[in-house]
Amino acid sequence: MTTKTNASATEQHESSMFDAVLARLDTAAKIYGLSEDVAVVLRNPLKQVKVSLPVMMDNGKIQVFEGFRTIHSTILGPSKGGIRYAMDVCDDEVKALSAWMTFKCAVANLPYGGGKGGIKCDPRKMSIGELERLTKAYTTALADVFGPDKDIPAPDMGTSAREMAWIVDAYNKVYRGNFPGVVTGKPVGLGGSMGRETATGRGVMVATLAALKKMDIDPKKVTAAVQGFGNVGLNAALLLSVQGIRVCAIGDHTTTIWNEKGIHIQGAIRYAKENGGVLKGFTGGVEIKNTELLTANVDILVPAALQNVITEEVAANIKAKLIVEGANGPTVAEADHILQEKGIIVVPDILANSGGVTVSYFEWVQNNYGHYWTEEEVNIKHDSSMREAFEHVWNNAQQYKTSLRIGAYITALKKIELGVKAKGNY
Ligand code: NAD
Repeated sequence: MTTKTNASATEQHESSMFDAVLARLDTAAKIYGLSEDVAVVLRNPLKQVKVSLPVMMDNGKIQVFEGFRTIHSTILGPSKGGIRYAMDVCDDEVKALSAWMTFKCAVANLPYGGGKGGIKCDPRKMSIGELERLTKAYTTALADVFGPDKDIPAPDMGTSAREMAWIVDAYNKVYRGNFPGVVTGKPVGLGGSMGRETATGRGVMVATLAALKKMDIDPKKVTAAVQGFGNVGLNAALLLSVQGIRVCAIGDHTTTIWNEKGIHIQGAIRYAKENGGVLKGFTGGVEIKNTELLTANVDILVPAALQNVITEEVAANIKAKLIVEGANGPTVAEADHILQEKGIIVVPDILANSGGVTVSYFEWVQNNYGHYWTEEEVNIKHDSSMREAFEHVWNNAQQYKTSLRIGAYITALKKIELGVKAKGNY
């Protein structure tokens, strides 16, 4: 898929991202029999904040950026969710992503609600100094929203441990103290957790293995295609290949590579590191069109870049028998039934990419304790938590005779409903 085609797919569905969440919520609520009193709360985000961020650019001129933060729910605990830097960040997208976080945290059995934030900017076109000033302006503007027991951001597309360290610094200056638990995904040594950087990709790997086991398929005999070579895609591709899965296609916004014999993922990672973080020019396979990756002749498809890439048209042409959603919202709601009719198993985003928020929770626990675990300890806890979440979702899907996606929503709704009932209303 070319960037242009992706952009138009995104634009086409952008206005309906929150509607896509509601469509799945309503389907799950109906099948499960959720009380309307709970459903109506979940259809409406708790708080939506929009800020204007004047930033001094390197050329000496002020540029004003739009920043967003939505708290969808705090029923199960403080809101948790990443911060995205991208040009298509908007109210609707942040609202949808915040709602997904509510369901994701509930599926992962974490004591958190859901939130999400973002800044409309193109981080690739900004200097490090500009990004630092923008991040600190955003933190200062939202200092009364964030808080270690209120709302805890983390990295998402376009942000990383670097931005999280800047957020902690700005937050600490506002409140004149040391509050590492205000964000997760920090650098190790500054309150970050071992294993956090690779956690989302690791979770994708664990979910893939769990699904293959249910399907009675040997991982060593299957092939995969991974879209996106950032935090999620790169680590997912690497860890899948370590498990013996032949990764035949990888791609980012600059290029897509195909190699039937399997791509040398460590070589691709090395290449990207030496070439500005992108795959353009990597010679470990032949270049194919971006669109061809999603419909490639592989057993497993891992969309780990953008939302809304699996449209109805793409769904009709997918050959993989298993889709593991590393990205948030890669499948449009209208494509769900096509995938289901084709018998394709879809491990939904709110389960498949919950490894990141699970280790974020571990980081927050370690910050609160002031005691830090080894990578091995983190990975063991993560893997068992992911497997348990997968089992719950699988069992709910079986019990309610529905897809894993709706099974995941039902898993979340059961927990949220208990929370609402226990807390009561006024
Ligand atoms: P990232 O910024 O690290 O990487 C994004 C990747 O997508 C890059 O390789 C980029 O080149 C690629 N990309 C962009 N446009 C593309 C296009 N048109 N075609 C193919 N590839 C394209 O972001 P990330 O953190 O890896 O996040 C990716 C997805 O995973 C997002 O949907 C995000 O919300 C979701 N997610 C991330 C985390 C996390 O811990 N980082 C956790 C859960 C979910």
